[in-house]
Amino acid sequence: MQWLDIGANLTHASFERDRAAVIERARSAGVAQMLVTGASVSSSTAAVDLARTYARTLYATAGVHPHNAAEFTAEDVPVLRALLSQPEVVAVGECGLDYYRDYSARSAQLQAFEWQLQLAGEAGKPLFLHQRDAHEDFLAVLRNHRRAFTAGVAHCFTAGAAELEAYLELGLSIGITGWICDERRGAHLAAVVGLIPPQRLLLESDAPYLLPRDLSAKPKSRRNEPMYLPHIGAVVARARAQSVEECAHLTTSHARALFQLPQPP
Ligand SMILES: [Zn+2]
Repeated sequence: MQWLDIGANLTHASFERDRAAVIERARSAGVAQMLVTGASVSSSTAAVDLARTYARTLYATAGVHPHNAAEFTAEDVPVLRALLSQPEVVAVGECGLDYYRDYSARSAQLQAFEWQLQLAGEAGKPLFLHQRDAHEDFLAVLRNHRRAFTAGVAHCFTAGAAELEAYLELGLSIGITGWICDERRGAHLAAVVGLIPPQRLLLESDAPYLLPRDLSAKPKSRRNEPMYLPHIGAVVARARAQSVEECAHLTTSHARALFQLPQPP
């Protein structure tokens, strides 16, 4: 069985000491390929460098997270454009809107999002989307730029059926994280996950964040790792009343098709 983690923040400082071991543990657990998430111009550059070191196992996204939108200026646009032309970069993002934290002014978030939609259109690469507490504006921007992007994923989807329907209508795929393993705030997701068409479902660890809360052997650290992706996959499979094998096969082949990834080495 092969799994594919579409969102791992492997350039995060918490992986500094043992990154190679983390990647090796993931592979041993059946996670054949991973997308390393970029969240700023500098972290996207680091993600590309890391992907080059693990050719055909790691790939990168390049983009500016809404948290970092305030530092993304017009001068950075060509820098991001150059990153997006690299073969290791398979998606534009994380990009989107986050009105929950509001770390960057909303006007700056909207500007950064619009620039990245334009860049996605130029590069012909799918979007890796982040949205929190900004559903209305997020949908409006995407609908206004419907012709600029070909495909994308609403990463770390945690909402309900209405938001799911709106995203599916835009042609987006849906990224499910270990949030679904949280008995306090993820219980509603079990029902919603069953509504995702098989060709739109993707899995992600979002490591080092969102450690699944229901791991049978409690890890010493709260740090999440891609090696727990098969556990998330098993929970998703149960919620969708399908076999774990089927879930692994569907999500892995869909991720390879969406991000145009070759077979792993
Ligand atoms: Zn995110």
